[in-house]
Amino acid sequence: MSLHPDLNGRVALVTGASRGIGKAIALTLAEAGAAVAVNYHSRAAEARRVVEAIGTGGRRAIACAADVSDSGAVAAMVRQIEVELGAVDVLVNNAGIGIARGLDDLSEADFDRTIAVNLKSAFLCTQAVLPGMRARRWGRIVNITSGAARGSGIVGVHYNASKAGMEGLTRGYSTRVVKDGITVNAVAPSLIETDMIGGHREERAARVPLGRLGTPEEVAQATLMVIGNAYMTGQTIQVNGGMHFI
Ligand code: NAP
Repeated sequence: MSLHPDLNGRVALVTGASRGIGKAIALTLAEAGAAVAVNYHSRAAEARRVVEAIGTGGRRAIACAADVSDSGAVAAMVRQIEVELGAVDVLVNNAGIGIARGLDDLSEADFDRTIAVNLKSAFLCTQAVLPGMRARRWGRIVNITSGAARGSGIVGVHYNASKAGMEGLTRGYSTRVVKDGITVNAVAPSLIETDMIGGHREERAARVPLGRLGTPEEVAQATLMVIGNAYMTGQTIQVNGGMHFI
């Protein structure tokens, strides 16, 4: 058994892959051999650059614009991928937003948008690709959650709820599809160096027992690791430099 997952002949969809963690995951899956659909919301130029980088490495990739909280847009994106790359074998639900709000300034609109983009999107994308995975009897789904699913984190309770919900989806789907050859796991990063964490980086790094922020590539490595294991399902892998439940 090879310890390096071989994704040659597989098609991967990574949501929110124009930047940050999603970009690193898209590049890593392509290096492992997959053809990659690079989803984005508004930053087309960034997504195009990820597609070009994958092409330079000799793999196929396409950019797909879609607001993954919109079921019509998700259905159209999955059709586009099937036509241009083939059916999706690996889904990484990574797209997310972190609207920082204290208890007193959190609005209903912030709550609804966060749940739609971070949680409902994972449900919509999973439902859209599952029938094909089940028919082919192979699939890998990885949900990018957060240490904030279990700890309080720095964003707000709406974000906590969205990420805890994703971990519920992970466990709920995992037992229902494991006999179809599909695994469903979560990777839960904390304080990774991307646009999302904004400023105060030194202050934030000082909260991590390891003493530094994590890198998107370290999250991508954990994602590839769970994709390579057929017996591991329903799990949450923390990537947090030792920072538990903060
Ligand atoms: P980021 O740098 O802000 O990138 C967010 C990505 O999500 C972008 O590609 C963005 O597309 C996309 N996106 C946002 N809304 C979308 C929508 N409605 N439809 C489709 N795509 C959408 O964030 P990141 O730090 O890489 O975070 C990636 C994931 O990791 C998120 O789920 C986040 O909650 C999670 N996470 C991050 C950290 C951290 O410390 N950074 C920690 C824990 C968990 P555009 O470029 O087109 O806007």
